[in-house]
Amino acid sequence: MPRLIFTHVTAILPDRLIEDAQVTCEKGRITAISRSTKRHPADAQVIDGRGAYISPGFIDIHVHGGAGADFMDGTAEAVRTSCRAHAKHGTTTIFPTTTTGSPAQIHAMLNATCKVQKEHSIANGSRIAGVHLYGPFFAEDKVGCHSLEGRRSPTPAEYRAYFDTGIVRVATCAAELPGAAEFYTESKKRRCLITCGHSNASWPEMAAAFKKGMRHVDHFWCAMSNVSSVRARCGVPMRGSMLEFVLGTADMSTEVIADGCHLAPELLDFAFRLKGPRKLCLVTDCNRALDQPPGKYRFGAESDGSWFESDGKVGWAPNGSLASSIVGMDRMVRQMKKDTSATLPEVIRMASLTPAELTGIAKQTGSIAEGKSADLLLLNRKLEVRRVFIGGQEFR
Ligand SMILES: [Zn+2]
Ligand SMILES: [Zn+2]
Repeated sequence: MPRLIFTHVTAILPDRLIEDAQVTCEKGRITAISRSTKRHPADAQVIDGRGAYISPGFIDIHVHGGAGADFMDGTAEAVRTSCRAHAKHGTTTIFPTTTTGSPAQIHAMLNATCKVQKEHSIANGSRIAGVHLYGPFFAEDKVGCHSLEGRRSPTPAEYRAYFDTGIVRVATCAAELPGAAEFYTESKKRRCLITCGHSNASWPEMAAAFKKGMRHVDHFWCAMSNVSSVRARCGVPMRGSMLEFVLGTADMSTEVIADGCHLAPELLDFAFRLKGPRKLCLVTDCNRALDQPPGKYRFGAESDGSWFESDGKVGWAPNGSLASSIVGMDRMVRQMKKDTSATLPEVIRMASLTPAELTGIAKQTGSIAEGKSADLLLLNRKLEVRRVFIGGQEFR
């Protein structure tokens, strides 16, 4: 692999921009960040960015599929199709995410993901850093667009078998379910980012989960508790909910679906101002309708996932509620920049370094820094993805 040099680019670092920068990569890693120079080694591949942004590749910790495929289809081809679709949108590191479903369906997904992860090919698109075990351990009253039949409470025999595949890096469970405490303890032993989602948990239940290592909440404001939903379950006095617990606890992180359809600008900006760029991630929560025409699709497995309708902007469940996004991370980045007070380095951080830190991969990737993998994007001034590099190799 020849030396790869990007010149005349505006480098987006986690805390600042560097104009007229040069980024040098060797053997798939970033080796230097400097001002642009005129002379380059004869054997180097030089890419003149002509003022384009160079950004770290995006990292998506919550994503279900794309280009017609859902990770829960459970085949290697569905995994490859989804990873390629998201690479086109700038995601260089991906955490394929389970939905509710049978143990057999979840095992099929984990096996297919392990297989593709081992293949290590640029042609497969985004690099798989691990699986987000998301469904099936959701609360019955907060399953959202997932199939209700496929949800259940955690039992050690079931989840240990998932963890034993070695690929689970993010683990979700609703905090109020019986067995949640043991699930969190096991997830912590397996060094996962532990998250509470699709839950109607009260503050005391969140506080107990926090003691077990839970530190993150999935898609803020979506399928989670609020004071009234907790009152409906637990009565009076009114109790704090997941919302107050996340906003009131500095060590809690969360994520937003910034597709312009799920959350209005004031909520996106509120989440950013309250949690800051180190504790708020952008996620796509994208389903198989990414880059597909409007129409009816299944959320989760092709065989028996719940139906939703894509209108070309977002997914809709039959009951009129939203059924996750249909756009890539590039769109989330543009929306966040437009709708909030976050600076460009802060927006990019929420789509790269912050998810890398939360999942323990920040030494390898997540920012433009010497020694890290050359996972890089060239973005034009409108923040549209022009070229994608994963480990120094171009994805086309
Ligand atoms: Zn969800
Ligand atoms: Zn989701």
